Amino acid sequence: MLTGKVVLVTGASRGIGRATALLAAENHAHVIINYNRSEENAVELVDLIRGKGLQASLLKADVSSEAEVRDMFRAIREKHSSLDVLVNNAGIMQNNLLMLSNTELFDRTIATNLKGTFLCARYASNLMKKQGAGRIINLSSTIGLHGNVGQTVYSASKAAVVGFTKSAAKELGRYGITVNAIAPGFIETDLLKDLKPALREKMISNIALGRVGIPEDVAKVVLFLSSDLGEYVSGEVIVVDGCQIM
Ligand code: NAP
Repeated sequence: MLTGKVVLVTGASRGIGRATALLAAENHAHVIINYNRSEENAVELVDLIRGKGLQASLLKADVSSEAEVRDMFRAIREKHSSLDVLVNNAGIMQNNLLMLSNTELFDRTIATNLKGTFLCARYASNLMKKQGAGRIINLSSTIGLHGNVGQTVYSASKAAVVGFTKSAAKELGRYGITVNAIAPGFIETDLLKDLKPALREKMISNIALGRVGIPEDVAKVVLFLSSDLGEYVSGEVIVVDGCQIM
């Protein structure tokens, strides 16, 4: 479905990003695997993809750093001269009650989840404009749509991604660039590993499909939006949560 396309997935060393990159490669894209800290995991993924006779390369960059994002896009321009799909997946979730949340937590979360999305989309849209086509897919969250106790900062960062997505879609449509967001619910990744068992059970009991999501559930929707199947979809937020009863 993605033959000949160049796809950048930020935060592809683990979780949803990893599954997204793998599925894109299996659909014959050349995937660029961005990572920040988990080099071993990222190298393992590239080896796995290349071992299947498919194409992948690796680029380290902290998406919250303008200099590192600039260098990453310079490397993409030099190596590929084009970028067809950007998946703004890199994100962090550090929870605390509002009254206990410090400014450092706020700055760190916004820098990764929102500024990182902004920086990558800005550099990518410059490349895509020249091509007259492109897909930008931003990872939001159902928490950004509905809010949650203990997640004011994370929720704010993910709600901001929705506003960013809708405005960017309106602005970039004239260049043939679609911009969409995906709002996953409860997806089994490292992000949720510290969740208390009782809370986990309660959350599962609120999912109509009766199970936690897996990274591949989200990767499939990214694939749809990246491919020709999603060509007339822009400015949307697609919820992938197994029907959570809020
Ligand atoms: P995860 O398993 O914790 O993985 C996070 C990924 O983001 C890692 O690959 C990490 O790379 C990367 N990352 C973090 N900070 C980065 C930075 N500054 N620069 C570059 N990469 C960075 O998380 P996940 O569950 O897959 O979540 C992926 C996205 O989906 C996030 O945006 C998250 O908010 C969103 N989401 C997840 C869920 C869920 O239930 N899991 C629900 C809703 C939304 P390194 O390890 O290499 O640093």
